Amino acid sequence: MGRNWLETIFNGVITSLRNNPFRTAYLARPNNPPITYTWLGPDILAPPVDIPVVEILTAVGLIISETSRPPANATPLQWCLPLLSMYGKWCATLCDELATYQATCAKPTSVAMHWLWKGHPHPIEEYLLGSCIAGNTANQNGQWIRGLCYHFRKERIMRRLWDFGNEIAPEIAANPKTCFIDWGHCAETYPFYLLALADGAQKGFVYGKAMRCAPGIGDLDGYDSAQAMTECRGPCPNCQKYIDELGGLQENFLPDYWGETN
Ligand SMILES: [Zn+2]
Repeated sequence: MGRNWLETIFNGVITSLRNNPFRTAYLARPNNPPITYTWLGPDILAPPVDIPVVEILTAVGLIISETSRPPANATPLQWCLPLLSMYGKWCATLCDELATYQATCAKPTSVAMHWLWKGHPHPIEEYLLGSCIAGNTANQNGQWIRGLCYHFRKERIMRRLWDFGNEIAPEIAANPKTCFIDWGHCAETYPFYLLALADGAQKGFVYGKAMRCAPGIGDLDGYDSAQAMTECRGPCPNCQKYIDELGGLQENFLPDYWGETN
C-alpha cells in the first residue's frame, strides 16, 4: 500500500490516458485488468479483498477511502456529507483536466459513498467512495473504451458481489426501448463492496448516499452541506435490487435519512 500503490496507479491508470497501455492490455486480456486494490473491508478479522480497478475516478475514491480516516467522534452529516461532496468536485475537476488529453472526457453524472456506522457514540468504522463512469469516452481506433469499462463493471464487479444470472436490470426492464442503465452503471457499484462484505450483524448499519455530480455538486462554487444535501438522491431500481440481495436496509440509502437522531 502507500507509495508503491500510488506509483502503480499512476503507471496503470493515469499514464494510460496519454498513451493508453490499458486499452492494449485490456483488449488483449479482457478478464485481467492492469491493477487491483487490496482493500481491508468492514471486518478487521476478514481477509483483505482484491478489488480490480480500471478507471481513474474509482482509483481516486479508493485512495481517499484508504488514507483519510474519520475522527473518532465524526458523524455522517458532519463528515460523510462534506467528504462525498468534495470527492464529487474532485471528480469533476479531474475530468476537466483530463479533457486536455482527450477530445472528450465527460464528467460523472453521480458519485456515491457507503459507510458503516452503529450510531452515537460509535465511530464511523469504514467507508467507500465511488463514481459512475467518466472519462475514457473517446472512440479510439474503433474501440469504445467506455463500453469496455461498462462490461468490466457489470461482469467483473457486480456479478462478483451478487450474481444476477440472466435477470435484466430493472431500469432496462421498465423501459427496454429507451433505457440503457445496466448493472454496474451506477456510482454505487464499487461502494456496494462494503455491504457485500459486511457480516449479517453489520449489514443493518451500512448506509449509502449518492450525489448528483454533473450537473450537481461538481458545478457549484462551494460544497457546503446545505448545497450538498440538495444534490443527494436515493438509489435507482437497479441499486434497490442490489441492496435487497446484499442484505441491506432500503431506508439507510434514502437521501434524507442519515441514521442520526439529532
Ligand atoms: Zn443505481
